Amino acid sequence: MPLRTFRRAAIASTLVALCFTQPAWSWGRDGHMLINRLAAQNLPADVPAFLHDRNGVDVMEWMGPEPDRWKQRDAEPELVAVQSPDHFLDYEWAIYGATACTDGTADCVAGYKFPRRRYDFIRAMIAAMPAHPEIKTFETVGFNPWQVNEVWERLKSDLREYRRMVAAKEDTAGVQVAILFDAGWLGHYVGDGSQPLHITIQYNGWTGPNPNGYSTDHGIHSKFESVYVSANVHRDTDVAPLVAATKPVDIPDEWTQYLNYIHHTNSLVEKVYQLDKTGAFDASGTPAGKTFVDERLAAGAIELRDLIYSAWLHSADPVQEYHGPQ
Ligand SMILES: [Zn+2]
Repeated sequence: MPLRTFRRAAIASTLVALCFTQPAWSWGRDGHMLINRLAAQNLPADVPAFLHDRNGVDVMEWMGPEPDRWKQRDAEPELVAVQSPDHFLDYEWAIYGATACTDGTADCVAGYKFPRRRYDFIRAMIAAMPAHPEIKTFETVGFNPWQVNEVWERLKSDLREYRRMVAAKEDTAGVQVAILFDAGWLGHYVGDGSQPLHITIQYNGWTGPNPNGYSTDHGIHSKFESVYVSANVHRDTDVAPLVAATKPVDIPDEWTQYLNYIHHTNSLVEKVYQLDKTGAFDASGTPAGKTFVDERLAAGAIELRDLIYSAWLHSADPVQEYHGPQ
């Protein structure tokens, strides 16, 4: 589809999406659009212009909430079932599918080494579940870092094809559409990964022992990520300066870096509940709540910008040519 058609379709679908209520379980529509837009706007000059020119930024922004449009249970139930776990990771359960390791060794993040391949993780979870009967099905643990890794690899693959086509002086209109889709799609899950209530079993009200009296209300998730953000966060004055203040980074190993990113997100879960107890996210909230939310949204945009930048840089890495099944 030519870029302009893609854009027209994008705008039309946005209008349709506005007619439906916001599905739960991710930064709301506004938060995801903000993260994707700011990531694209802050890409460095050596990334191809179509990823951050006016059309690129608009497509990226529209793509921000795209995977949440795939959550209409009555309309596309099989799609909902298969892709919903890509949006989160119940970190406290997921470590049962990891192996203990010493920090500083390969793939070791905060004492745990997760399998890089999704199906290996599923096998490890199935093996671990008999000892943890609170986990009813493996997919309830979530797949966020695997989804990010796989979509990031698609992006890198398409960027490699783009480099080849430019070198061969071929028309790149088609591959540009694919790349914008990949980058925008990636942005959704990277944004989910900066939201503390996406990377924990405490995703919607505190469960288990609760000596500090944290909220057990099931409204906390959407209050924090949707209602509060839409009412109080100003993209250009609050979050954009935080993103612009950081320099794009080449990530040498996407998998380990991303796991560090979500491990840090998980370390902030209790802070959300502490802030919530002070009314930080009620109505206009508190200054501490505002600082926290602005920082989390900026963290998502920074991570996405750096992942796109790194996919571009590493799409130049030499690869063995694939000759099909032997
Ligand atoms: Zn999501």
